[in-house]
Amino acid sequence: MRDSSSAMRVSIIGGGIAGVALALNLCRHTHLNVQLFEAAPAFGEVGAGVSFGANAVRAIAGLGIAGPYRKIADCTPAPWQDIWFEWRLGSDAHYLGNSIAEGVGQSSVHRADFLDALASQLPSGIAQFGKRAQQVVQNEEGVRVTFSDGSEHCCDLLIGADGIKSSIRDHVLQGLQQPLVSPRFSGTCAYRGLIDSQQLRSAYRARGVDEHLLNVPQMYLGLDGHILTFPVKQGRLINVVAFTSNRTQPNPTWPKDEPWVRTANQAEMLQAFAGWGDAARILLECIATPSLWALHDLPELPSYTYGRVAVIGDAAHAMLPHQGAGAGQGLEDAWLLARLLAYPQVVNKQPEAVLEAYDAVRRPRACRAQRTSWEAGELYEFRNPGVLDNQQMLGKELSERFDWLWQHDMHVDLLEAMKILGLHVQAA
Ligand SMILES: Cc1cc2nc3c(=O)[nH]c(=O)nc-3n(C[C@H](O)[C@H](O)[C@H](O)COP(=O)(O)OP(=O)(O)OC[C@H]3O[C@@H](n4cnc5c(N)ncnc54)[C@H](O)[C@@H]3O)c2cc1C
Repeated sequence: MRDSSSAMRVSIIGGGIAGVALALNLCRHTHLNVQLFEAAPAFGEVGAGVSFGANAVRAIAGLGIAGPYRKIADCTPAPWQDIWFEWRLGSDAHYLGNSIAEGVGQSSVHRADFLDALASQLPSGIAQFGKRAQQVVQNEEGVRVTFSDGSEHCCDLLIGADGIKSSIRDHVLQGLQQPLVSPRFSGTCAYRGLIDSQQLRSAYRARGVDEHLLNVPQMYLGLDGHILTFPVKQGRLINVVAFTSNRTQPNPTWPKDEPWVRTANQAEMLQAFAGWGDAARILLECIATPSLWALHDLPELPSYTYGRVAVIGDAAHAMLPHQGAGAGQGLEDAWLLARLLAYPQVVNKQPEAVLEAYDAVRRPRACRAQRTSWEAGELYEFRNPGVLDNQQMLGKELSERFDWLWQHDMHVDLLEAMKILGLHVQAA
């Protein structure tokens, strides 16, 4: 058992965006002893862009990493700085409207740069690599994790940030005597690539396509497909994701032995977008070797915590990428948990209650983000039954549908969680 004078041992499984962001904030507190275990031999992210909504940008600032983020983030130049995306028809780039996120617009980074920026701030000795968590056992006194290399680790609280295929989630659900959940294939696959922006500008110019489409993030919509673009690496590259959906099966499945990500060829990608207009097709013609991603999400979980173990990020609420919200929700989890664990008096007396308060406050919002992410994909691809391809309705719906997500006040969450914990202090 832990000596009451020593630091509370909080261990994190998984070194993706959610796990590293949490570790970075927690390791600032002297009453916590933080360890992070990552299965891979090093921190690593894919070479693609990730965009953050206004809520996620606030979480980044709240986690104390605004400085490193600002150095690598792209935003849209004035006078379009508040635009998240412009919405257009894929067939001819006809303008449908835009979504405005005042003060933030589109805020995006190269994934690997972001994870590097976070990881480089972690004090040495916190992260251990090549540690794949395999088994978790807990009692009232603590948690023991066994790794695939046979080693063991004991801690007071364990946070699973181990992504959509989380094994820590299995421990939580088993403990609660709930059925285990598996990732669901959505029927949608995404071709991804990064294009040199000068190359694309020249290609647009040569074919008479309006270069404005490169100045502002764009979303091209069509039946059972949509394509998004936004800049990364200070505008030197354009991140492109081209989604194509097969809705012929009510419950699509992805073959068990097929990888979720593979290298694709340009011809198959162009075939999937045959009949789309120049603005969209020229983008795809600039991507010589796209990668293809089979998109999965999770059903809503009945709880994010059991005893001294909780899950955050994709381990808890993996969602489709259609609102650009998944990583942002993981950052909101990390922010709230870090704020609650900052109170030594609560953490020491009732560690399980901290995790329960986190679950009570975060789960409804993250579940709503999961649901609305799926709905957004239906809307973009003309499958929302009340809207279909009605241009006026699409423009109106798309101008408003993200406000609840972006304008959320996380300090209200914190106050609610503190109330649950019986802490009546003023939130910072
Ligand atoms: C095409 C696409 C586009 C997207 N675009 C956006 C976007 O623009 N904006 C946005 O906010 N979100 C976006 N997302 C979602 C976002 O990528 C995820 O929500 C986010 O990366 C999840 O981070 P995470 O840290 O929770 O999990 P992960 O990034 O999955 O990290 C989990 C980590 O845990 C490690 N691990 C796994 N199992 C174990 C184990 N047993 N033991 C130890 N370590 C383990 C893994 O190696 C990994 O490093 C997109 C997703 C896709 C697929």
